Amino acid sequence: MLDFLFPAECRLCGCVLPRGSRCLCPLCSAGLQRTGYHRDPDNALAMRLAGRIPFERATGHFLYTPEAPVAMLIHDMKYRGMYGVARELGRIAGGELAAAGWLAGIDVLVPVPLHWMKRMRRGYNQAEELARGVGEGSGIAVLTALRAIRGHKSQTRVSRAQRAVNVRGIFRLRHPDGVAGRHILLIDDVCTTGATLVAAAEALLAAAPGARLSILTIACTV
Ligand SMILES: [Zn+2]
Repeated sequence: MLDFLFPAECRLCGCVLPRGSRCLCPLCSAGLQRTGYHRDPDNALAMRLAGRIPFERATGHFLYTPEAPVAMLIHDMKYRGMYGVARELGRIAGGELAAAGWLAGIDVLVPVPLHWMKRMRRGYNQAEELARGVGEGSGIAVLTALRAIRGHKSQTRVSRAQRAVNVRGIFRLRHPDGVAGRHILLIDDVCTTGATLVAAAEALLAAAPGARLSILTIACTV
């Protein structure tokens, strides 16, 4: 069980992991390309979301391209049951963002939810595992405050406009007390058009008076 969650070999290069490393060796971990977006308030993710929802800051930690090693890791965590990979990517991002001061003032980490049927099929929600990793790396608490009230079709083969229609109104806040008046960091895996993040943010802010919102995706397209 522990071996599956944290395999003894590096997921990328196959080397035997040194003590203290999980899923990735130090070299491969350091080699994943970071966006550096947390140092630039007007970064590509923030610009993609600007004007669509009110937020304080937004960053995507690793640079996503179909060829990037991080794309394989995201595939592992979404489709191959390797939620330990999600934990580890979250832990790396959380540690680096905390060290850079980007997480200062964040009260609670809220993952974008999966519909329960999809979660049951997959066995976990990768965004929640990412959030738990960020929590381990930063010491901030995770609250699964949102739920998805219906499933939505795969977003990979639909247009930008259709994506927004697919996800509109699918999220509900189930723990308003835990997020009202607090600074929430909404966490998801990859941001492409931002439609899912916008829908989740709308559900949070509509039902949590006085809440402030920031956004973190583990990977982001340019
Ligand atoms: Zn490696």
